[in-house]
Amino acid sequence: MAQVELRGVTKSYDGKTTVIHGIDLEIRHGEFVVFVGPSGCGKSTLLRMIAGLETISGGEVRIDGRTVNDLPPRNRDIAMVFQDYALYPHKNLYENMAFGLRLRKTPEDAIRERVMNAAKLLRIDHMLERRPAALSGGQRQRVAIGRAIVREPKVFLFDEPLSNLDAQLRNEMRTEIKRLHQRLGATIIYVTHDQVEAMTLADRIAVLSAGHKMQYDTPDAIYHRPAALFVAGFTGAPPMNLVDCELAQGAADLGGVRVPLPAELAARGAGQPALKFGVRPENLRLVAAPGDVPVPAEVSLLEPLGAETLVTLKVGRAEVVARCPASFREPPGSAVTLHVAPAHLHLFDAASGAALH
Ligand code: ADP
Repeated sequence: MAQVELRGVTKSYDGKTTVIHGIDLEIRHGEFVVFVGPSGCGKSTLLRMIAGLETISGGEVRIDGRTVNDLPPRNRDIAMVFQDYALYPHKNLYENMAFGLRLRKTPEDAIRERVMNAAKLLRIDHMLERRPAALSGGQRQRVAIGRAIVREPKVFLFDEPLSNLDAQLRNEMRTEIKRLHQRLGATIIYVTHDQVEAMTLADRIAVLSAGHKMQYDTPDAIYHRPAALFVAGFTGAPPMNLVDCELAQGAADLGGVRVPLPAELAARGAGQPALKFGVRPENLRLVAAPGDVPVPAEVSLLEPLGAETLVTLKVGRAEVVARCPASFREPPGSAVTLHVAPAHLHLFDAASGAALH
């Protein structure tokens, strides 16, 4: 286990194009931290700088208080698991996992013990004689993880490890990785573009956009108190409804429909030249609870998902999505009233993207 700190870390290629802009992050002992963001936001570059596979253009990376900027990867005591697991095709599973330890001249009985323990943990101990070609994608990914575990590194780095797996397997492996973290208590930094993976796995999530850290917090805080428009629009499936609004007498005017705002929120929005109103699809409900505010709407589209139905509705000039019970049957064109708790309403400064909570 180890603690990792990034202090003002930047990366630029050819001294001109800056792709990582002064990132500060602290990853605690035993913490599971996920870097999430869309393709190209810089998450792999950041991970590779921690691993020592990319040079650091500015700032510092520290592992357990020691600056590692100039330390080669092999001396950083980290193990990386990639999307492309790159197993040796002619070695069996046991040898694939043992190989790195052999190179480090680990005694044979220690190798055996570590490989067998990792194989049991990953439930591949009954197939150690097999070669990679005789394995499923999920089993191969387990071997790649096993190869990292046997090294007993201070930090595990995962770079989109599940992207090559089909949807069902991805869910299974996600659960396995979470269980693994609970058992090993290891420090893990995990990169993904998938917000569901980030939400389900992380103790804390760093949301990145265009090389900037947008927010670094618990999944709960990222979801319920997004610090920026980008974070609100990136998390949740479907993500938060974000629509242009104007302030009128303490309410958000969505083009004819006014949603009363809590006084403090309205006060923070006052004087901002452009505002976005935000509400999560599951917070728009058909049944009122005490204290809710009503939002008149017109149904425009139904998308049944089995367990629930996603309903697109017109609210004033805006369009929003609500997560409704599967029993919802109102056809397009019907008038309905949505209900929302004032605490679930968000406002953002449209120009800077900053949340006004
Ligand atoms: P992510 O992992 O979030 O998809 P990356 O870290 O791979 O993003 O890339 C971040 C940015 O850095 C991208 O805009 C990418 O085009 C750029 N980039 C990556 N490698 C190089 C390189 N060798 N030269 C120039 N730009 C690069």
